[in-house]
Amino acid sequence: MFKKILIANRGEIALRVICACRELGIKTVAVWSEADEHSLHVRFADEDVCIGPPRSAESYLHVPAIISAAEITGADAIHPGYGFLSESAYLAEVCEACHIKFIGPSPSVIRLMGEKSRARRAMKKAGVSTLPGSDGPVETEEDAQLIAADLGFPVIIKASNGGGGRGMRIVRSGNELSQALRTAQREAQAAFGIGDVYLEKYLEAPRHIEVQILGDEHGHVVHLGERECSVQRRHQKLIEEAPSAVITEKQRKALGKMVVDAATAVGYSSAGTFEFLMDAQNNLYFIEANTRLQVEHGVTELVTGIDIVKEQIRIAAGEPLSFTQEDVRIDGHAIECRVNAENPDTFAPSPGRVDAFSLPGGPGIRVDTFVHAEAVVPPNYDSLIAKVMSHGRTRAEAIARMRRALEMTVIEGIETSVPMHLKILADEDFQQARISTAFMERFLAAPK
Ligand code: ADP
Repeated sequence: MFKKILIANRGEIALRVICACRELGIKTVAVWSEADEHSLHVRFADEDVCIGPPRSAESYLHVPAIISAAEITGADAIHPGYGFLSESAYLAEVCEACHIKFIGPSPSVIRLMGEKSRARRAMKKAGVSTLPGSDGPVETEEDAQLIAADLGFPVIIKASNGGGGRGMRIVRSGNELSQALRTAQREAQAAFGIGDVYLEKYLEAPRHIEVQILGDEHGHVVHLGERECSVQRRHQKLIEEAPSAVITEKQRKALGKMVVDAATAVGYSSAGTFEFLMDAQNNLYFIEANTRLQVEHGVTELVTGIDIVKEQIRIAAGEPLSFTQEDVRIDGHAIECRVNAENPDTFAPSPGRVDAFSLPGGPGIRVDTFVHAEAVVPPNYDSLIAKVMSHGRTRAEAIARMRRALEMTVIEGIETSVPMHLKILADEDFQQARISTAFMERFLAAPK
């Protein structure tokens, strides 16, 4: 087992990894930018290293600074968390060259899944149903018109190397296509450094369903069931749950097996998530795979009792999976609300000093956060400050627990999305699980 793990991240996920390391008896190294000097992840790690100024490009995204910090402290592994360098095949390769274990899949698998149009092709070959679309990047307007005519409008143009819900364009007719293609290519180049885009059939109001897997380095892959993340704003998830209210046991088995077979075929190890969209007829289509821990992994942990981060670490240390597919049981229902430091109506960021902070507790509640009274939420990073999770025997109980937990959450000094979450939880459609990725648009447009 590793002796010391460097956590190349900040915020709640850095603390989450520290929790796993402490339980496994592994020492931790925190890295921090000058904006995070007083952050809790720095306080709770055994050692810490300043890696640069607040700007991410000069700190949390700066590979030489991270590798130097690992070398100086003698860390034998790096956990990248999510975001930042978590899907960097380059960091994984540099780690290999420096004999530091990167806690994630192999560089080649990260690279394959990171190029979404290539990943689509690989998944199709492995027997996974994908959305109809182009089989690689689309360069010219002529090609785009031919493919779109074949797919039928609407179509969506997506950045091949995109992520975080950015760089997507919905196109509803042939006249819009040429301009949309050029803008998408330009945006992809600016945001991701690679201008490649591809086309996919656009589904109106699908559900977002994703499958969590764990694979070891000995060829075993298991799935931990699905999560539903349909409540999104601008393609960003706001509320996630496990299991999905609309997936039957039979469908879960079939979907799980399809994903496990495909992940096995590409030699997948570590934690991973295969994302699908579900149409009105309950057909599921693969859209992308994420080769890292996800923000919403906790809801799966609540319903399966499996600590995904500890498993990730054990797998990276070369241990075989400690359980089989038959051991995985889905127990009850779990929901997560992402609490962001933002205005609940305008969504404008609200960084700053937190004056008062009190966490909810009680039966069935888990909170992952780095915030405390007098903490400062810096303006430099994403606005997620806490993940409030609830677990109940049924979806209704999980919702009831979440509502009272959020009602008992005290965060003063900055604005948060808690009031918005409370309104969603009180919504009849949400309560009846009548949700899709179009839910928030309807919800926000409804008269208040
Ligand atoms: P990213 O990697 O940027 O998060 P994804 O491919 O995972 O991009 O898509 C994010 C979200 O965008 C999905 O959850 C869904 O809401 C929407 N989306 C993506 N592709 C389609 C599509 N073909 N049809 C309808 N919605 C889509």
